[in-house]
Amino acid sequence: MPPEVSPLEPTLLVVDDNDNNRSLLERQLRRLGYTNILMAQDGEEALQAIVRHGPDLVLLDIQMPRMDGYEVLAAMKERGWVVPTIAISALDEIGSIVRCIELGAEDYLTKPFEKVLLKARVQSCLEKKRLRDREVHYLQELEAANRRLLAMANQDGLTGIPNRRLFDTVLAAALAHNLTQPLSLIVFDIDYFKQFNDNYGHLQGDDCLRRVAAAAVESTRTQQDTVARYGGEEFAVVLPNTDREEAAIIAERIRRAIAELRIPHSGSQVADHVTISLGVTTDERTPPPKTAAEVVAQADRALYQAKGAGRNRAIRYDG
Ligand code: GH3
Ligand code: MG
Ligand code: MG
Repeated sequence: MPPEVSPLEPTLLVVDDNDNNRSLLERQLRRLGYTNILMAQDGEEALQAIVRHGPDLVLLDIQMPRMDGYEVLAAMKERGWVVPTIAISALDEIGSIVRCIELGAEDYLTKPFEKVLLKARVQSCLEKKRLRDREVHYLQELEAANRRLLAMANQDGLTGIPNRRLFDTVLAAALAHNLTQPLSLIVFDIDYFKQFNDNYGHLQGDDCLRRVAAAAVESTRTQQDTVARYGGEEFAVVLPNTDREEAAIIAERIRRAIAELRIPHSGSQVADHVTISLGVTTDERTPPPKTAAEVVAQADRALYQAKGAGRNRAIRYDG
């Protein structure tokens, strides 16, 4: 086995139990310009070399003691390995060739080799492999692009947190998932944000939204809760398995975290920094089950009350 393998050149694996046959084939392949040639002298060694080196092409002798070529092909097939293989048979016998093709061999050659045939078959197998690899590569890129698109479709571009669309999905799933545990929802909105934009400009407003989103995420439970941008300067937090007491604690934690950012807000009538108002509701899961729209409407009502009661506070929906 050559110690150094050039990654740009195709790697060929020659499998033959006969030393003379192996070196003859190696010489011929070298003369055709191939430099990365690996050798295996039986089926076991061949399978090991395939795992270890991932050759682009296997030239596989059929008649070998212990594990013959058929068994190697069968083992490759069973393990789902797709490595183009040229079966090599001493007997110009149609039966062995048919069996090899059935077992997944790409092509075949009969000994003694015809130089032109060897060249043509090796070239054609490698070319097909190259095209297949390229196809796989494109498919993988396409899949990655699709995943990115899907993530983008569910993500708010400004703040990087889930958007309204994902919020709808999460809330519907949370409502449907566990019908015995209480579920809470917080909706919150920045106080006097129009004035903030007017005083500091839209870019500062955007930056404020990003910091508010991050502070809210920080104040919630990573695994369990979902903070989403509901729209504009309004956010929503889904709290699965959360009763009213816990929800009140989390709402207060969010309110305080955002106040503690101390983002100057000279246009606010309730503080000299950015504050939020929150509406909180808890669905105790008493029948009949509530819809997402009903739960959101409750939290919204409570938020409206929080605004009316002087802002910078959380109010619980109380029916
Ligand atoms: P309130 O205390 O009652 O909530 O008053 P408010 O001024 O915050 O509410 P209002 O609904 O009148 O104004 C919301 C403002 O939020 C107006 C809009 O320009 C701003 N806004 C919405 N989305 C964005 C955004 O993506 N970026 C910025 N910079 N501003 C936004
Ligand atoms: Mg507002
Ligand atoms: Mg608003």
